[in-house]
Amino acid sequence: MSGSFRIFKIAGISVEINLSWLIILVLLTASLALDWFPVAAPRYPVLTYWALGFLAALLLFASVLAHELSHSLVARARGLPVKSITLFIFGGVSNIERGPQSPGIEFQMAAVGPLTSIVIGGVSLGAALLVGDASPLIWATLYYLGVTNLLLAGFNLIPGFPLDGGRVLRSIIWKATGSLRKATLWAARVGQGFAYLLILVGVWQFFTGYLVPGLWLGFIGWFLLQAAQAENAQVVLESLFKDVTVGQLMGPAPGGAQGNVSVQWLVDNYVLPYGARSIPVMSGETFIGLITLEDIRRVPRESWPLTPINAAMTPFARLRIARPGESLNEALPRMARGDVNQLPVVDEMGRLVGMLSRDAIMRYVEIRRGLGMEEVEPGQLSRREGAGRPSQGEPPLPVTS
Ligand SMILES: [Zn+2]
Repeated sequence: MSGSFRIFKIAGISVEINLSWLIILVLLTASLALDWFPVAAPRYPVLTYWALGFLAALLLFASVLAHELSHSLVARARGLPVKSITLFIFGGVSNIERGPQSPGIEFQMAAVGPLTSIVIGGVSLGAALLVGDASPLIWATLYYLGVTNLLLAGFNLIPGFPLDGGRVLRSIIWKATGSLRKATLWAARVGQGFAYLLILVGVWQFFTGYLVPGLWLGFIGWFLLQAAQAENAQVVLESLFKDVTVGQLMGPAPGGAQGNVSVQWLVDNYVLPYGARSIPVMSGETFIGLITLEDIRRVPRESWPLTPINAAMTPFARLRIARPGESLNEALPRMARGDVNQLPVVDEMGRLVGMLSRDAIMRYVEIRRGLGMEEVEPGQLSRREGAGRPSQGEPPLPVTS
């Protein structure tokens, strides 16, 4: 997620905060300080309400983090690499690099989140009960945490993508039918239906005088809608590319240039006459790197005649490459993560055997669509590439209004 920065690492997973999270932190603190604490624990100084409001908001996000962490830890224990957890305006997401391999793993990964929230909620409510009248401020904090965590669990159990309940539903349909694609389609449909409902209720609230809650619901609905569609597109594409190898779609390897020629020579002889945007760099017959327009732009203009291209290129060791025999589903995320338009295809001997380009993949999708073989929309490809891998979407705190 852009605009995120890392705050710490926990159990080897980096925890990031998105700038949009600051908005919800302020909103939550204010609503707690102005609406909740003065009612739940009257006759304290205003400053106390604000300090406690801030603390309770932080504790709520600690609960959201615990919820996400439970998803991530189960994912990792089942062999799925976890990149990070991000807290943002609508809650948290775990950035898990691959989808689960079986319905059983999916079920465990999804269910553990709401379960964690239920446990935190139950413990907080129990503690609130113990504290009772002894300390109204502590009671109000614990009670708030208890109720919001239970609401969070309840909201997440709604059986539509991208909510945890949607993942549970998907794992069940997946198990029953054996088709991940069918299961995803259904979970995404329920998710989209629910998202439209939220938007509808949001619009209705907005026009009946509840401006802020209406807007908030509308935004949550919109966010869920996007996520449900992206997830469905992802799975459709994965099934489309399952049996396609890089070697089948790659184009021929472009002619390379020797590493000792100058950047100026390359621009005059390759880039300008042929419009080449990405040129393999060779040392004799060996492929040693790739030089792109971006690499060239980094060299100051006046140094072009004197800089050999092997000093300006991206060397082989730092290149993202594809193998001719691997599935497109393995190569595509690499392309998306590197935000590059093509990957050099290198065989086991280190020889450059072709180029896999985004254009060729788009063309393939187009042709299959033209033949009526798939219902995938061309726009889904770019959406998937922009959005990266699927993540466990965590919605929001439905209780702030
Ligand atoms: Zn969750």
